Amino acid sequence: MTRPILFAANWKMHLHPGEARTYLDRFLEVDQPRAGRTVAFFPPAVSIDVVARMLKGREHYLTGAQDVDTEPKGAFTGATSVQLARGAGAAAALIGHSERRHVYGETDEQTHLKLRAVLDGGLLAILCVGEKLAEREAGNTMAVIERQLSAALRGVEAHADLAVAYEPVWAIGTGRNATPADASEVHGGIRSILGRLGIPVETRVLYGGSVKPDNVAGLLAAPGIDGVLVGGASLDPDQWADICAAG
Ligand code: PEP
Repeated sequence: MTRPILFAANWKMHLHPGEARTYLDRFLEVDQPRAGRTVAFFPPAVSIDVVARMLKGREHYLTGAQDVDTEPKGAFTGATSVQLARGAGAAAALIGHSERRHVYGETDEQTHLKLRAVLDGGLLAILCVGEKLAEREAGNTMAVIERQLSAALRGVEAHADLAVAYEPVWAIGTGRNATPADASEVHGGIRSILGRLGIPVETRVLYGGSVKPDNVAGLLAAPGIDGVLVGGASLDPDQWADICAAG
């Protein structure tokens, strides 16, 4: 089955509103939107508003939040709720990115609560999963991913507004990416787990981890890879447009 391809740019802690505007001016000049492809931008929270405004009315693009809080509002200094993100123009959110899990110590349970908040709030959730190097070397890749998926997706069967991103932790920001064959094998495993959890077959499974213009085509050609989640190489508008033109 062919699913629409999703190209997701995770800007992490880069590009303030003025820089985001300059970036998008250039990106929109060089990008060639194509049917069956969506390009999503995940700017830092302060830049969601400007990105969403610039992309408004352009059906091939969407704006999202890099993280959200589990709570809808209240005395949570520094946090961004789904409602705040949506009010700023976000239509999607990343959940469980490896930096949230391994730098900020986010647990599987917090990831689950965030995912619920995103889906209940009517946004597309991109749930990130992936193993650390030691876990891969110990042969535990699929066990780790199964634990992450089962915990996060508990009770959220049959939800259409969901994509999963397979991001091996050892490949994020390291310049080391999984080969298309390795990624494809894990994607097949993820698809089986999603099936057992009752998640619809239309759910896209993206690959993330040191995707660049010169390796994206090979990844997109591999069976079961429905798009990419990209950090470093999405920070340059020309490079990102090259990636979005691949395949
Ligand atoms: C990411 O931030 O999700 C990511 C995959 O980063 P990079 O492309 O820089 O490895």
